[in-house]
Amino acid sequence: MATMTAKIIDGKAIAAQMEEEMKVEVAELTASGTQPGLAVVLVGEDPASKVYVGRKEKSCERLGIKSFGYKLPAETTEEEVLKLIDELNAREDVHGILVQLPLPKHIDSKKVLIRIDRSKDVDGFHPLNVGCLFVDQSPLPPCTPAGIMELLARTGVELEGKTAVVVGRSNIVGKPVAMMLLKENATVTICHSRTKDLPGVCRSADVLVAAVGRPEMIKGDWIKPGAVVIDVGVNRLENGKLVGDVEFAAASERASAITPVPGGVGPMTIAMLMKNTICAAKNAHTLKNIAACGGGCSYTSCAPGD
Ligand code: NDP
Repeated sequence: MATMTAKIIDGKAIAAQMEEEMKVEVAELTASGTQPGLAVVLVGEDPASKVYVGRKEKSCERLGIKSFGYKLPAETTEEEVLKLIDELNAREDVHGILVQLPLPKHIDSKKVLIRIDRSKDVDGFHPLNVGCLFVDQSPLPPCTPAGIMELLARTGVELEGKTAVVVGRSNIVGKPVAMMLLKENATVTICHSRTKDLPGVCRSADVLVAAVGRPEMIKGDWIKPGAVVIDVGVNRLENGKLVGDVEFAAASERASAITPVPGGVGPMTIAMLMKNTICAAKNAHTLKNIAACGGGCSYTSCAPGD
């Protein structure tokens, strides 16, 4: 049997450590008059979405963040969802709004995401917030890519001058994580379904991020010896087992560090959602206090990407 050499990057443990840090922040903010609040909107009965929403609500509970759940039937109209977003935008006790994707087909998710007040866009999907990411000023960065960066940072992975390869170019994972890696001075290549010689490109990667959605597509011998591998993929096999996009056992023999599935990127996505909610609440708190004292005080808010 093959021996595993790679260090396992334990996303669950790192997320738990972040939760401990965030509990303190939430308690302080609540004591000063602003309890962070997150509204989670779920339309329909998608089983995976229900699980994700449940995890987010539990995380809120552990941290002391107030969560407002809106579980709407699948036949809810686009108009109704937009009306709810307007109401949540106007509420002072809601600092973050998350609409669980995918939405039922009759609802245009782009229309819904753009309706969310940018300062409450804790998923970081509003096109203007996405734009901010490209000029390195992301106030609320998208959670999965931000979680990947946090994993790399907390594992002590040096990115400057390294070759990073991202497989997948989605708006929610591939493209934003590529921008974030670039910001940290990695030399970044983005691959997709038309990339020629994908194995060869992957073999050049010091840091490989796989965000494809195809079970174990990235083979062990595509991994450069000593590479750091971040597996974003979540794929349910017919036997019920959950696997990533990378052939984990074989890749572990060559990589220096690798994230498992489950227990790698997934928990970090939720931790970053909580972080963004706290950041949005801090900013709202600052604005409220500046307004209350006529602008003469100096409250600090969250720095971009903080
Ligand atoms: P998308 O389906 O939006 O994008 C998949 C990307 O993979 C596309 O860019 C596509 O290329 C590329 N791709 C597909 N087939 C190939 C191939 N044969 N060779 C090379 N590239 C290919 O997926 P997401 O980015 O939304 O998600 C990716 C995975 O990450 C999924 O398994 C998802 O469940 C998981 N995920 C996990 C999260 C977590 O918190 N753990 C959060 C978000 C996603 P093209 O553009 O050319 O079609």
